[in-house]
Amino acid sequence: MIKKVFVRLLFVFTISTLTLVAQKVETSNEIKTMEKESVFMLTDSLSSIKLLADKLEIKKLIQKQKVSREERLEQEIKVIEKLENLEAPAEDIYGADSWVQTVNPMKDSSLIPNTYEIDLKGFVAPIKYYRTTSNYGWRRRGHRMHHGVDLKLYTGEPVRAVFDGKVRVKHNSGRRGYGKYYIIRHTNGLETVYGHLSKHIVKAGQIVKAGDIIGLGGNTGRSTGSHLHFEARFCGIAINPQMLFDFAEGTPNMDTYTFRKYSRSSHYARKTKKTSQSRDGHCQIYKVRRGDCLTKIAAQYHTTVQRLCQANHLSKRSILKIGDKLLIQ
Ligand SMILES: [Zn+2]
Repeated sequence: MIKKVFVRLLFVFTISTLTLVAQKVETSNEIKTMEKESVFMLTDSLSSIKLLADKLEIKKLIQKQKVSREERLEQEIKVIEKLENLEAPAEDIYGADSWVQTVNPMKDSSLIPNTYEIDLKGFVAPIKYYRTTSNYGWRRRGHRMHHGVDLKLYTGEPVRAVFDGKVRVKHNSGRRGYGKYYIIRHTNGLETVYGHLSKHIVKAGQIVKAGDIIGLGGNTGRSTGSHLHFEARFCGIAINPQMLFDFAEGTPNMDTYTFRKYSRSSHYARKTKKTSQSRDGHCQIYKVRRGDCLTKIAAQYHTTVQRLCQANHLSKRSILKIGDKLLIQ
């Protein structure tokens, strides 16, 4: 009897163990299958992510290429525009039939724009600077207007174009006037005059770049002593060159100059009013010193803070820095 019970128990135990082992094997297989599936899913996901990343990369590349293509196109257009502007500088202002031999090329003053922003950034000094021998403005004797500035030079020294442009006038007026001179029309709308030269180097109609030597300095025309008579004009109207440029430094006094046709100051130097701009056309740029404020400078130059602010794009609360250059109007 005991033996029978034992055999039965052994049978039950064996069956249970076998069932457990079977279950374990089954579970292990299931796990393996799941693992395999997971790996497949993961690989699948990774591939999808990689594909997506590649797609994004390609998209970015296409975008970049598109941008660079557009940039290249823009640059090419700019180069073409620059060349066209050099071929016919500031034609929109002067018109195609303004390549005349007179100093003032404007036949009709009503065509002069009321305001115009003149870009001065590419300025190159016309000569090696020694000193200014005569300022722009009314001459004390003779009541004659001096439309330019006289800069000391020695005969034979190079004279350079101050901006890119095209030679409009190359002329020799003999013992009168400017003597051997040039008028160059620039791409920024300005025209510059270079008088009393000893030698012409460039031809009429020639395109010149800023800094190109156009002639040699001298003492021709109505001149006593070698110097360069230099004028800056917009549509024939003379602007004080000392207001636009610092010849000693060889730099422009501002990035852009706003030409105003009806401005009572700037280009016209007046001999009667005792305002800053009437002092023979100079003293129009003021360098800020320690302890200065807008009110003090305005009082010093018989002008108003409002006018100072307008001329220099400042607000009444702007803080002035020592050495800042202010245009006095
Ligand atoms: Zn002069």
